[in-house]
Amino acid sequence: MMQTATLQARQLTKHFAIGGVLSGGLRQVRAVEEVELSLHPGQTLGLVGESGCGKSTVGRLLVRLLLPTSGAVYLHGEDIGLFRGDKLRQLRRKLQIVFQDPLSSLNPRHRVSRILGAPFRIHASCPSEQIDGRVAELMQAVGLDPGMRRKYPHEFSGGQCQRIGIARAIALEPEVIVCDEPVSALDVSVQAQIINLLRDLRRESKVALLFISHDLAVVENLCHHVAVMYLGRIIELADRDSLFDKPHHPYTEALLASVPRLRAVGKGSRPPVLAGEIPSPVNPPSGCAFHPRCPLARDVCRRERPVLSARADNHSVACHLR
Ligand code: SF4
Repeated sequence: MMQTATLQARQLTKHFAIGGVLSGGLRQVRAVEEVELSLHPGQTLGLVGESGCGKSTVGRLLVRLLLPTSGAVYLHGEDIGLFRGDKLRQLRRKLQIVFQDPLSSLNPRHRVSRILGAPFRIHASCPSEQIDGRVAELMQAVGLDPGMRRKYPHEFSGGQCQRIGIARAIALEPEVIVCDEPVSALDVSVQAQIINLLRDLRRESKVALLFISHDLAVVENLCHHVAVMYLGRIIELADRDSLFDKPHHPYTEALLASVPRLRAVGKGSRPPVLAGEIPSPVNPPSGCAFHPRCPLARDVCRRERPVLSARADNHSVACHLR
């Protein structure tokens, strides 16, 4: 049985204002709309969708790098948007993020010993004379030679830099780690090593992971549950096996059909590869936002937005016809 959720997003919404007087007035980018998610200890939730669908914004909202326009994120039932002072500092320890570009997320002027020692110094979580030893332990935990801790980030490969990023994220034993496209900048062989590292960390520490990716094959490899986003909204949510074996939403079907290996193993016929561009989140289509690209679209799809609702087989789907 699944344990109580560590982190929950409820009706999470984020709009960004863009433009100004010279460009015809302010407009709203509807980056994230009414997202509901739960992260559980020792489990990985995959968050997938095309570029620009709002995945990374969700990740930043979950770790409070951004505050929502409306809705909230709850850590063990407490609204993290209300945290201040020492409670907010403690929150920073519990919620961590690993970024896509491993090299640019590390300060090029700092040695790795300083980068990995920073969390211990900032949070005063161990005596200063013990920090070097903790850094060495961290490097070992992520498969790096502690003898390299006097080097600078540019002296490491991309995969090693991502290991440093992961080591920094786990330094303070967080409860949640958001991994935002952590392997998309890496070679395929290195990707597999980083995925195995995340899997080991999850098993050993029971951390809850959100794994943001546009690579469905990687998501299938690592995640327990998968949420599919389209234009700021979750349009399908299910456990991994049933989502990959029997996707319900036409967009999910098209995403899976775009990966030849997945198309070969999936059951039933799949529609052609997804055509057209994702619409602008400044001016989203009426009704179902997917209707301009959907081969099944009817009149009702253009008029009414389908609500994400649970089906008998543990899928939640936002579609009038499925
Ligand atoms: Fe397609 Fe209509 Fe379902 Fe949207 S609601 S995915 S347009 S069938």
